[in-house]
Amino acid sequence: MKIVILSRNPNLYSTRRLVEAGEQRGHEMLIIDHTKCDLLIEKKNPVIIYKGQKLENVDAVIPRIGASVTFFGTAVVRQFEMMKVFSSVESQALVRSRDKLRSLQILSRAGLGLPRTVFTNYSKNVKEIIQAAGGAPVVIKLLEGTQGLGVVLAETNNAAESVIEAFNGLKVRVIVQEFVKEAKGADVRAFVVDGVVVGAMKRQAKKGEFRSNLHRGGTADIIELSEDEENAALKAARVMGLGVCGVDLLQSNHGPLILEVNSSPGLEGIEMATEQDIARSIIRYVERNV
Ligand code: ADP
Ligand code: GLU
Repeated sequence: MKIVILSRNPNLYSTRRLVEAGEQRGHEMLIIDHTKCDLLIEKKNPVIIYKGQKLENVDAVIPRIGASVTFFGTAVVRQFEMMKVFSSVESQALVRSRDKLRSLQILSRAGLGLPRTVFTNYSKNVKEIIQAAGGAPVVIKLLEGTQGLGVVLAETNNAAESVIEAFNGLKVRVIVQEFVKEAKGADVRAFVVDGVVVGAMKRQAKKGEFRSNLHRGGTADIIELSEDEENAALKAARVMGLGVCGVDLLQSNHGPLILEVNSSPGLEGIEMATEQDIARSIIRYVERNV
């Protein structure tokens, strides 16, 4: 098969591993920078032009689209879909997953456990918002943040008020969330491919930090999920419509609470922690669908 990986950087671990796993299974792997594609739209003839050439005879596409280029990246994925090319992440599901608030609403409707969360339209009633989230300590998050940037722990109501007011003043949208203390600075990443958890790790924040992101200096170890955790991860992937995703959850004293579902989950951390060939699982998933 001819498989396109949409990635802006061929040197990223995840991109390299997907190329390697695809080639090992006898496929032609092509890395394409989605930001450099031109889309030609005319009656019943969708075309993608890349470096002056029409992209033809592509069997499948694996999008690895960064949050900052979601809009154009999704348009490219949609164009592939119009050309009847299978995408490991459906364009609709990609867009949905990038909207944190919408994602939480979908997960909540499905009856999944979530940290109690308040969203406000720059409300002046900051005290009420903090109380609605359960009172300090609370976690305040930029709606558009990734890799743990823009996630703040406010330990007192006064601190929370100042932070929310500052963001409101800048017209930056935030969500306010109960702080799940018993997670002890750790979260769980379950990597889901085609309705199966193919790997799971527990990420622990470095000392003095509550954010367990690897980018923030956290460390990762393989773990065995409880039945509840596994079921929650699989259900989250299903309701988000994602065949491949990373489900992040907190271990609370009342079961797993979903933090977010990542539609371009990195492979490095999970492959290192689990010593599993996750890239191969993704290629196999693509093979089954073409
Ligand atoms: P990002 O999408 O930027 O990674 P997250 O919402 O996943 O943001 O938060 C980053 C990290 O902060 C999480 O991995 C988790 O360790 C910690 N964290 C986030 N929300 C909470 C919360 N409500 N309670 C406790 N810890 C949290
Ligand atoms: N994009 C990375 C992932 O989804 C983020 C990892 C991190 O935040 O440390 O795995």
